[in-house]
Amino acid sequence: MSQTLDVRDAAPRPVQERLFTGIQPSGASHLGNYLGAQVNYVALQDRYESIYGIVDYHALTTVHDAATLRTLTHEMVLDMLAVGLDPARCAIVRQSDLPEHAELCWIFDTVVPVSWLQRNPTYKASLAEGKENSAGLLNYPVLQAADIVIYKASVVPVGKDQDAHLELSREIVRAFNRRYGEIFPEPRAVYTDAPIVLGIDGARKMGKSAGNTIPIFAEPDEIRRLVMSMVTDPLRIKRTDPGRPEVCNVCQLHRYVGGDYLQIQDGERTARTGCVETKELLAERIIEFFAPMRAERARLAADPAVVEDTLAAGAGKVRPILAATVAEVHDAVGIGPRRER
Ligand code: ADP
Repeated sequence: MSQTLDVRDAAPRPVQERLFTGIQPSGASHLGNYLGAQVNYVALQDRYESIYGIVDYHALTTVHDAATLRTLTHEMVLDMLAVGLDPARCAIVRQSDLPEHAELCWIFDTVVPVSWLQRNPTYKASLAEGKENSAGLLNYPVLQAADIVIYKASVVPVGKDQDAHLELSREIVRAFNRRYGEIFPEPRAVYTDAPIVLGIDGARKMGKSAGNTIPIFAEPDEIRRLVMSMVTDPLRIKRTDPGRPEVCNVCQLHRYVGGDYLQIQDGERTARTGCVETKELLAERIIEFFAPMRAERARLAADPAVVEDTLAAGAGKVRPILAATVAEVHDAVGIGPRRER
């Protein structure tokens, strides 16, 4: 079960469902992260009782240096605040502040067949590369399921390509509920209307591991440098050749950062404008678009308490929810002291 949500319709609902999404502290936020996910997180915080988890337990599967992980987590909280998540309207939490996530993961581990996890495409791809995989990597989807359902969140915003992950979470919930009773709701995907942003190579999805990103909080000169290195329409060889804006990533990105996109398209198609000026304009538009967020981020970063205060406030909001779920689960499975009902 799923739905597509028009995030422009931000009317709050009378009874708010709960939403959870996990955010990897994996490095500087880029244009793909912003347009593909973060802008929707901001819109969704008023439609749902929203919990945004910076999932540092998950990051342990790939980041193995303590100082680096702490820095990445800190930076990601600043990014989220700067793009517009408001701790007064949502909860921003650090997964490791709430070890109940890991406890529920363990309990789910005793329910989930290993064969389900071995079928996971990320795990299979890593195996195929001949890597020695940690049990944590195999277990990743179980922790993901625990992250969502420990809040009894019914809504998870995902890209259309990510529904398979959520289906596994639903299967895990069904397996638990079959064994112990109807404790958890099955989470459903809310698809937000989000583009897939190509990287500066114009070929692959923009992504940190592909090394083809435009970080949204980079210095203006760095943004200019990266945009000027973007690959445009490969068939437009001479300045006078007409361009194909539908295949030119530079033209496509103009759509999202203000200005008259149709005129830019037309300029390319008729060779009225050249690739260099279209790129120069794109760089300036990106810089201008993110300038208020960059200023806000700098303001927040100057206050050494802001990140921990945000996380403490988030943890304070969600602790009662976690305590209630954990008590219910303990009762259902028979661990911990017997409680009076
Ligand atoms: P990365 O590691 O490249 O930053 P993640 O896989 O951590 O990206 O994704 C974080 C969020 O950003 C996800 O919701 C994902 O769908 C979204 N996202 C990442 N890259 C893109 C992209 N190029 N276009 C659209 N959305 C993206």
